[in-house]
This record gives sequence, structure tokens and C-alpha cells, in this order.
Amino acid sequence: MSDRQLKPCPICSIPSPYWERYPRLVCSTCCSKACDSKGRKVKFYNVDMSGGFLARFADTKEEYPSHLCYIEGVKCWAEEGKFGGIAIERYD
Ligand SMILES: [Zn+2]
Repeated sequence: MSDRQLKPCPICSIPSPYWERYPRLVCSTCCSKACDSKGRKVKFYNVDMSGGFLARFADTKEEYPSHLCYIEGVKCWAEEGKFGGIAIERYD
């Protein structure tokens, strides 16, 4: 692959890098708005340098036992990114 394509973020429509593996990837700004179904902020992390997936509530740091989250009321799915970091995709 040469030049990376830009595609609108599925939440806010801002042009964002397009990854073939993650066609519905939300942009980093939207990722930072992830909440649970009740609007409580959640954050996603890698467990360590080698990856892994970990989700915590932003306020209490309590573990959030799910990959599902909501961004601007849109259901999304977070997972360990294939290329490191965390990938959040629109879930539908
Ligand atoms: Zn966005």
C-alpha cells in the first residue's frame, strides 16, 4: 500500500486514516469520548508493551468488563489494535 487513504470518521465525519482491516474505525478524537451505556467515561489501554486489551472507567479506574462502548450515542466496539494501541470501530 502506498499513500494512506482518508475516509470520514463514522461518528464525526472528520477525514481520518483508512485501515483496510478497520473499515469503521473511529478517529482519535471520538475514541477519547467513549462512554458506557449510562454515559460514564471509559478508557481503553493495552495491558503492556506487547499489547493486550484493558478497559477501565476514567473516574474510578475500576475495570470495565466489556468491549462495547458508546460514542456520541453510537454503539462501538473496542479491541486491541492489530498494529498496536487500541482500535475502536462503529458497531453495526
Ligand atoms: Zn471522529
